[in-house]
Amino acid sequence: MTSGKTSNRRTFAIISHPDAGKTTLTEKLLLQGGAIHLAGEVKARGQARRARSDWMKIEQQRGISVTSSVMTFEREGITFNLLDTPGHEDFSEDTYRTLTAVDSAIMVIDAAKGIEPQTRKLFEVCRLRSVPIITFVNKVDREGRDTFELLDEVADMLALDVSPQGWPIGMGGQFEGVLDFATNSVARPEGPSKEFLGKRDKDPVLPERFAEEVELAKVGYPEFDLEAYRHGDLTPVFFGSALKNFGVTELIEAIANIAPPPRPQPAGDEQISPDRDEVTGFIFKVQANMDPNHRDRIAFMRQVSGTFKRGMKLTPSGLGKPIAIHSPILFFAQDRELADTAQAGDIIGIPNHGTLRVGDTLSENNTVRFTGLPNFAPEILRRVVLKDPTKTKQLRKALDDLSEEGVIQVFYPEIGGQWIVGVVGQLQLEVLISRLSAEYKVEAVLEMAPFATARWVKGPTEALNQFESFNRANLAKDRDGDLVFMAKSPWDVGYQEEKNPDLAFSATKER
Ligand code: GDP
Repeated sequence: MTSGKTSNRRTFAIISHPDAGKTTLTEKLLLQGGAIHLAGEVKARGQARRARSDWMKIEQQRGISVTSSVMTFEREGITFNLLDTPGHEDFSEDTYRTLTAVDSAIMVIDAAKGIEPQTRKLFEVCRLRSVPIITFVNKVDREGRDTFELLDEVADMLALDVSPQGWPIGMGGQFEGVLDFATNSVARPEGPSKEFLGKRDKDPVLPERFAEEVELAKVGYPEFDLEAYRHGDLTPVFFGSALKNFGVTELIEAIANIAPPPRPQPAGDEQISPDRDEVTGFIFKVQANMDPNHRDRIAFMRQVSGTFKRGMKLTPSGLGKPIAIHSPILFFAQDRELADTAQAGDIIGIPNHGTLRVGDTLSENNTVRFTGLPNFAPEILRRVVLKDPTKTKQLRKALDDLSEEGVIQVFYPEIGGQWIVGVVGQLQLEVLISRLSAEYKVEAVLEMAPFATARWVKGPTEALNQFESFNRANLAKDRDGDLVFMAKSPWDVGYQEEKNPDLAFSATKER
């Protein structure tokens, strides 16, 4: 287990369906954490705010908006690193990968809507990695669904034990506050806006109906079990209103008290402990410049172990020779943005010109390779067709760059010159076309490709050679030169798997 210097970090993300209240809750968490100058401004990107700190100046110079990607705040000796997951209904690989960099997640659910499609997808990604989840049922100040029904839906749809940690005393017009089981006190609405301003009734006498509900809830659902939560088998559930400030303190205290500190990370057969002396980390996101005249990028590294110091030399696994990290961006909410050290669990932004790629490991001694940061088999494949055929070289460069950033995946067929891009969400295609045009001056259109999905193929040389000779028309190389089977249908994948038992057809590729 972790101890000492690393145990006061909590690195987490908020997962939710659009409109459930992620932005509002983020603001309130930052406010509680003392990062007051950011609260209320998460969405606003005003000049005034940008000028306030060093790294915001960097944003201005480089035209890269990193402000909302990582938000760090402190409260009672705990440092919270909140990583933003893009809130589009259309999920992207970026979102997936961000979830590989957290130790836990908050799942925000709208009390009137329950589990929505995007919540569910993001939840599945968390489950893949056994990321523990705290549930926050939001908007109880409004008319919502029956509380038992909501809890049962979470339990049934996500196959997860639910353990309520409190109870809404009415919703909507009848809303009288939120009961906290731990302290047996009700946070009460006050004033015309019916906000929570600090008034709590200890050992309240509840109206009979609610007293009964609470009794039923306490016997009907499992008690909180730290082990089950940390394994991702049980979720504690808090009720509140981000807008009216209910349940926010309870939530932040829960993250401090039960959410896991930095976890060991897999590197092949090894687990790299946060207590290891060597500085190690992996790149989970690369963000390019919004300004097409700059080629700078910010690579986001999740630090896994050691104590990072500014100017330190780290070796990226993709490069093989060390680079000095002179101007790292460290994300402290107070006036220490360009602090000099970072610990396991922290995120470091590293400006670079394309040397750092998603999935790269950085380490002092170049002996570690983190695994488990997947590329996902694309669900949408398109041919890229140039409007001006003389721009082939520019297109190749652009596709290579954008695949390094993780915007798309690119596949170069073994036969023919038509390049194929693959994505897991439609939105990525729109981003591709607009960035090709804006940054690379390449006008292109996307056409249907005769493929439905792709699989990375691995196996003994002889079996591979034989497979290649039979299927050349359906084979391609990805950006790294690895062999990919382009399948016309899922059935096709099954057929080839059966026919080639010595080969592995993989829907994800770990870098
Ligand atoms: P996001 O899309 O998940 O980031 O959602 P937002 O935080 O932008 O919230 C969506 C809408 O719901 C906004 O109009 C918010 O003001 C509103 N909202 C958020 N939290 C609450 C809440 O607790 N109660 C009520 N009544 N409205 C809320």
